[in-house]
Amino acid sequence: MPSNIFAALADYHTHTPLCRHAEGWPVDYARIAVERGLGELGFADHNPMPEFFDDWRMLRDELPRYFDEVEKARAQFPQLNIKLGLECDFIPGYEWWIQELADMADWDYLIGSVHYLPGGWEVDHPKYIARHQGGAEEIWRDYWALLGRCIRSGLFDFIAHPDLPKKFGITPQGDLRRFYEPAVAALAETGTPFEINTAGMRRDCHEEYPARSFIDLAHSAGVPLLINSDAHRPSDVAAGFDEAAALAKDCGYTHTLRFAQRQRSSVPLA
Ligand code: ZN
Ligand code: FE
Ligand code: FE
Ligand code: ZN
Repeated sequence: MPSNIFAALADYHTHTPLCRHAEGWPVDYARIAVERGLGELGFADHNPMPEFFDDWRMLRDELPRYFDEVEKARAQFPQLNIKLGLECDFIPGYEWWIQELADMADWDYLIGSVHYLPGGWEVDHPKYIARHQGGAEEIWRDYWALLGRCIRSGLFDFIAHPDLPKKFGITPQGDLRRFYEPAVAALAETGTPFEINTAGMRRDCHEEYPARSFIDLAHSAGVPLLINSDAHRPSDVAAGFDEAAALAKDCGYTHTLRFAQRQRSSVPLA
């Protein structure tokens, strides 16, 4: 893979063992990022909730450990710019908590995600795959309605894996742009970027999140993007970035974004 592509890119969506389903500490991710010549690395582990919520996120009192581990990586790899972020679940009724979290650290960015659908189940969890097999249309309606609210909440610096419900390779019939268009309109109206998330390439859907036609719509609407791996282990840092960058360029994108202290700047895709 050409290293000039990597130097232009940042990987801002990576996880740590604090979320209980990832391996490798920030120092381990940073070592790989340096080896691969990545421009920047950032952490975005699953946000804590105000009290125990589920078994796939850090606890509230583990936040200091998270900060410590990111600091260790910064100390050990001073040649690499290492950013501090969080992947935050958008759950109606908990907006106040995201606002509180925003004040708890010197975040470089907060990512907004929808994993939980009404009724309190995770749209990307394999234990619920039968629900998708039973009919994707209603799931997709619920998901995209919530994603629209997530975008319009104004709480987040960018939006994660926009078409996550396709994870298992099951989608509704017909032209899926009927789901994408309102989301792209919300991104454009609020000036919110989205990510191309390469984790989809490693799932049963076998393509990046979001689908190419979403990226085309977003480009036409002037919505900026980032490219992230959603790595849950160090070997996945920057995974698929050459393909994702080629796709972004093919859709007309010439720039990606960097974040520092919740301020964004535009940098050319190499
Ligand atoms: Zn995760
Ligand atoms: Fe996620
Ligand atoms: Fe993630
Ligand atoms: Zn994610």
